[in-house]
Amino acid sequence: VVNKELDVLIIGGGLIGALLKILLSSLGFEVYLVEAKSLLTPRRTDFDARSLALSPASVTVLQMLGCWSSLKEDTCAIETIHVSEKERFGRACLRGTAEAPLGYVIDMNRLQTALYQRLDTQRLLSPAELVEYNAETRMATIRHQGVLHGLKTKCLVAADGANSLVRAACGLAAESKEYEQQALVATIGLSRTHQHVAYERFTPHGPLALLPMTGLRASLVWTLPPEQAEARINDGDEAFLKLLQREFGYRLGRFVRVGPRVVFPLRQVVMPQQVHGSVVFIGNAAHTLHPVAGQGFNLGVRDVAMLAQCLAEGGLTDVALKRYADNRHSDQRAMIHFTNGLVELFRCPIPGLATLRGMGLMVLDNSAFLKKVLSHYARGYSGVVADLVCGLPLRSEHASR
Ligand SMILES: Cc1cc2nc3c(=O)[nH]c(=O)nc-3n(C[C@H](O)[C@H](O)[C@H](O)COP(=O)(O)OP(=O)(O)OC[C@H]3O[C@@H](n4cnc5c(N)ncnc54)[C@H](O)[C@@H]3O)c2cc1C
Repeated sequence: VVNKELDVLIIGGGLIGALLKILLSSLGFEVYLVEAKSLLTPRRTDFDARSLALSPASVTVLQMLGCWSSLKEDTCAIETIHVSEKERFGRACLRGTAEAPLGYVIDMNRLQTALYQRLDTQRLLSPAELVEYNAETRMATIRHQGVLHGLKTKCLVAADGANSLVRAACGLAAESKEYEQQALVATIGLSRTHQHVAYERFTPHGPLALLPMTGLRASLVWTLPPEQAEARINDGDEAFLKLLQREFGYRLGRFVRVGPRVVFPLRQVVMPQQVHGSVVFIGNAAHTLHPVAGQGFNLGVRDVAMLAQCLAEGGLTDVALKRYADNRHSDQRAMIHFTNGLVELFRCPIPGLATLRGMGLMVLDNSAFLKKVLSHYARGYSGVVADLVCGLPLRSEHASR
């Protein structure tokens, strides 16, 4: 495709790879993006399955990129997060306000479409895939339209998800943990308004989240053992809604409709070393989390903001990548431990722990300080905070264009 050495080659055009391409291109870097799937798949319906809870930090990054104003009307603000455990006492509520919500829920398809529309198609190879990468020569072999191309790059960003091929090509390790649970995801039709409350309900089978969406809709993420998830996929709509209602209760009124149901196997994948010479891993390739806290994408957005800042300030150097890794360490660690800790705490069968959990929720509910700390993390401000996340623009003296 090109004979010269590229500035940046991104492998993987999921949300995180696409976001990084938009940001680095806006700073003047010459960026190529390689994505295995076609990025031109049409939008689906408003009862599509996947939604994302965006933290205020992610929203600020989208605002700085000029993407937010067109998206905002299709999002629903989360003003309260309600946490409870089925058949147990104790509950906790985190409260934001209409002016300063705790986050926003968006249809993943809507966000994807908005980002893909912003991509400059000249430097986009899709559908195309990385076949091989040689870290010593910095040469990537890409298959595009049935032809193999060699691309040499100053910096390679792996945004190629949990099963990263770049990781394998570099001979790097990832710590992987199977949760032996699946997330069943669907849009649920409600009989009354949700009042902008997001519910997280822990059940003996796993957490069940219902996030407020625009209109009379909520986004369900129901964690279940694989055989139960399969059974719920095969249930008729009425039977499914009845079971869901029994599991969740009537805090959101009656459930009246369910959209297509999709399941995702759940595991945690974490790379202890995310920079290898001129290669850097971001998003799910670096850290795939359980969706219980809705933080995977948000964490990836903060990777993107910090990586762009380090490259803008330090150029396409190994030193800039090392600084990136150092700066991202504590935020990533905090989120990985928080997310995994939450899953383990609520599924641990030790006698007496359920009572302690109930008391813990009551303590949290009555402690303004603990709520403030938790809200701070949930909003996406932990560790070294990137300029973009604070609403400060980036400028680069190192870009080649
Ligand atoms: C049920 C569920 C609910 C969730 N809810 C939330 C939420 O509310 N909030 C939140 O912040 N996060 C949430 N997440 C997490 C979030 O969806 C992910 O963290 C995010 O989508 C990861 O994006 P990514 O671009 O890093 O990776 P991916 O989406 O995995 O993208 C990787 C891309 O790389 C491409 N690729 C792979 N190999 C190659 C190759 N060799 N060559 C070329 N391309 C390649 C793939 O086609 C893919 O498009 C949820 C996850 C699940 C499963």
